[in-house]
Amino acid sequence: MDYKALVQKYDTPLYVYNFDIVAQNFMQIKNAFKARKSLIAYAVKANSNMSLLKHLANLGSGADCVSIGEVKRALLAGIPPYKIIFSGVGKRDDEIAEALEKDILFINVESEAELGRIEDIAKSMGKVARISIRVNPNIDPKTHPYISTGLSENKFGVEIDVAKKLYLQAKNSPYLQPVGIHFHIGSQLTELEPIKEASEKVADLVRALQKIDIDIKFFDVGGGLGIRYQDEKTIEPYDYAQAILSTLSGTNMTIVCEPGRFIVGNAGVFLTKVLYEKRTKSKRFIIVDGAMNDLLRPSLYNAYHEVVVVGKENERGSKADVVGPVCESGDFLAKERELPPTEHGDIVLVKSAGAYGFVMSSNYNTRPRPAEVALEGGKDRLIRERETFEYIIEKEIRFMV
Ligand SMILES: *Cc1c(COP(=O)(O)O)cnc(C)c1O
Repeated sequence: MDYKALVQKYDTPLYVYNFDIVAQNFMQIKNAFKARKSLIAYAVKANSNMSLLKHLANLGSGADCVSIGEVKRALLAGIPPYKIIFSGVGKRDDEIAEALEKDILFINVESEAELGRIEDIAKSMGKVARISIRVNPNIDPKTHPYISTGLSENKFGVEIDVAKKLYLQAKNSPYLQPVGIHFHIGSQLTELEPIKEASEKVADLVRALQKIDIDIKFFDVGGGLGIRYQDEKTIEPYDYAQAILSTLSGTNMTIVCEPGRFIVGNAGVFLTKVLYEKRTKSKRFIIVDGAMNDLLRPSLYNAYHEVVVVGKENERGSKADVVGPVCESGDFLAKERELPPTEHGDIVLVKSAGAYGFVMSSNYNTRPRPAEVALEGGKDRLIRERETFEYIIEKEIRFMV
């Protein structure tokens, strides 16, 4: 890839996504589950760019959404309502009402109180809400605590015995139709055993529900499939699917899988330019024009992204921190990396930045958010304009007295 040409054309900081790799990743998961009917519902929160969603819609993807805004994005991008799921631990009344209005596939319920709200809202609208209950299987996914969600100390889902009670409640309500069961134990999962254990526990619950005439049609296994940022061992989609499918004997459900990171993480890069180098007594800093407001993962999770200086990949170097211009010591993209001497204008390539990159960006320090570019069939095209100063202040300026 000619990153220099891209930077000349679009400037930095810049996100670039390879849509061909996105398609490959999507098909890999789709094919892994081919022994059963499946719906791959891309987790929109990983990267919600409209052109990316349209690309996924064309591949047959559904969408897992965590706000009504994401539901509306998915619909606008051409994902049909019957492939859209609404998840999330805190849905507002108006979000629930709009989801019912749009007639999406189902709502993932995360608490008893939420089930009650959904019932009331469906009743007031004269509708029947299709629901799925998010079960917390209480299993340690062995990932970063901030992205682990399947332990009883996490805020997500309900415990298995509570779930059973909620299914009965739903079955007995004329305004609720239980159609699915859901679990999602965490993100960046790199071990198979916790997934299999969780799936087994939830499948047992499904079989118990069958016995009391509650027929679950969708087995929603969440997302979380990890990717390689550094040298992690990762799970093959085929093995992941097999681990889940092996727990489902005696059932006839459609698999719903909600991958986010796996689809886009390694399909995207972040490009930033070197402004200066600076040395203190103990450290070497490479100061670049991209910052934590553009790519938050290093600051938020101490996440590792591989970085290289474009055109100097093979040069010897010394340890340096790659830092942005934001006024926070926590503003860094990489720490203690072996990097060659750089000059003003050199391009630093930050890899694996397609997921949880742009979507977590902000205007902190009145920095316009970066442009986004898609690569497809060897061609590049802009899919989000770089923000301008005027755009940032637009919602404030007219209130100034
Ligand atoms: C975040 C999330 C996903 C996607 O997670 P990835 O690690 O990006 O695959 C899927 N389902 C739910 C409910 C989520 O919260």
